[in-house]
Amino acid sequence: MPKISAKDQEALDYHEFPKPGKLSVESTKSILNQKDLSLAYTPGVAIPCLEIEKNPQDAYRYTSKGNLVGVITNGTAVLGLGNIEALASKPVMEGKCVLFKSFSGLDCFDIEVDTQSVDRFCSVVMAISPTFGGINLEDIKAPECFEIERRLVEELDIPVMHDDQHGTAVISSAGIINACEVTRRKIEDLKIVVVGAGAAAISCARLYRLLGVREIYMLDSKGVIHNGRSDLNDYKREFCASGYMTHAEIFACADVVVGLSRPGTFSIEDVMSMAPEPIIFTLANPTPEIFPQEILEAREDAIVATGRSDFDNQVNNVLGFPFIFRGAMDVRAKKINNEMKLAAAHALAELARKKVPKEICELYGKDIKFGRDYIIPKPFDKRLIVEISSAVAQAAIDSGSSQIKNFDIEAYKKELSE
Ligand code: NAP
Ligand code: MG
Repeated sequence: MPKISAKDQEALDYHEFPKPGKLSVESTKSILNQKDLSLAYTPGVAIPCLEIEKNPQDAYRYTSKGNLVGVITNGTAVLGLGNIEALASKPVMEGKCVLFKSFSGLDCFDIEVDTQSVDRFCSVVMAISPTFGGINLEDIKAPECFEIERRLVEELDIPVMHDDQHGTAVISSAGIINACEVTRRKIEDLKIVVVGAGAAAISCARLYRLLGVREIYMLDSKGVIHNGRSDLNDYKREFCASGYMTHAEIFACADVVVGLSRPGTFSIEDVMSMAPEPIIFTLANPTPEIFPQEILEAREDAIVATGRSDFDNQVNNVLGFPFIFRGAMDVRAKKINNEMKLAAAHALAELARKKVPKEICELYGKDIKFGRDYIIPKPFDKRLIVEISSAVAQAAIDSGSSQIKNFDIEAYKKELSE
C-alpha cells in the first residue's frame, strides 16, 4: 500500500471525525412534549399541507423551501478530478453546501444523481424540484451541462444556475471591468482571447458579450475556433472567427486573455505579443495555464488573476453563488437571468473599488487598495452579502423575474447586514 502523506491524511481525518461528512440536518422547532408532537406531525401538520394545496406560494410560508438550495450533480466533471461519478462527488457537494451556509445562511441538501443521461438527469431534478427554493447545478460536464441547464431553467419557476458556468462568468467579468478601470480602457474596445471552449469558457464569453465586448476569439484543444471548422458543436459555433486565423494572429495586440483550459495552452511568446498592460486571467485549476510569476517576469505591465487563493486577484466562485442565490431567492425570482448576472458582476466590481475594511487588511496581513493587485473583492469581506445580494434582488425586481411585490431595497440591505 502506498503511504498517505501527512497532508492527505489531514484531509481524510477532517472528513471522518468527529462525525463522518460535513453536514447534518437541524430542526428549527423542538419536540419536548405531546403537544409539540401533535403540531410538528399529525394532526397539526395537516393544516399547512392543506393551505399549500390551495395556494402553492404558501410553501414559502410554512416550510423551509424558501431558504433551501439543492446542490445537484451527476459527478461527470468534478473539480479537476473529471468524471468520478455520483457517489465519489459527494464530499465536494457537501463542501458546496457548507459554503452556501457559511457565506449566505442558505441551507442545502446535496443530491448526487447516478446517471449520465441528460433526459434522465433532467427528469429526476424536475421531479424533486418542489423541495427546493433554488437549484445549484454543480460539476456537470460540457456540453451536456448547457442542455441540462437550459431545459431546467425553462421548465422550473425557481432559480436554477450551473455555478461552474455562471459563477466564473460573473466574477471574471467583475475582474475585467476593474482591470479596464485600472488601465483606462473601454469594455467595448477590448480584444479578448478565451482559451478553452468548455463549460466555463462558453458562459464567460457569453457574459463578456453582454458586458459590451465586441471582439472575442476562442480556442479549443484543436486550435482557433473559426467558421472553416466542421467539428464544432453549437456552443462553440457562437464564437467562430469569421475566417481562418492562426493562434499567433488572435493573440497579437489582444487586450485580454482568459484561460479556462489546462496548464500550458498558451505561452510567454503569446503574452509578449499582447497589447500594452495586458489583462491575463490564467484560471485553470489547480495548475494555471501559466504561473503569475512567469507572466510578470516577462510582462511587468500585466494585470494577472488566477483561480488560486495563494495569489492576488483570485477568481473564486464563492464570491458569487452564495450571494446570487440569496438575492434571487429572497425575492422569489423565477429565473437567474442575464440582468441579474450583470448586476452581480457590476456590484462585485464596485465593491472592489471601495475602501477595504481594516479587518480584511489584517486578515491578509497587508494594506489592500484598489489597483493591479486587487481588482476582485476578498471572500471574507462582510459587505459581499449586502452589496451582491441586494444588487441581484433589485435586478430581479427590475427585470420582472421576481414574484414579490413591494420590495424595499434599503430595508433588505439592512436585513442582510444584520
Ligand atoms: P471543460 O468543460 O472540460 O473545458 C476545458 C476546455 O479546455 C475544453 O474546451 C478543451 O477543448 C479546452 N482545451 C484543452 N486543451 C486545450 C488547448 N491545448 N488549447 C485550448 N483549449 C484547450 O472544463 P471547465 O469546467 O470549463 O474548466 C476549465 C478550466 O478552468 C479547469 O482547469 C477549471 O478548474 C478552471 N476553472 C476555474 C474557475 C475559477 O478560477 N474560478 C472556474 C471554472 C473553471 P475541447 O473542447 O477541444 O476538448
Ligand atoms: Mg464546481
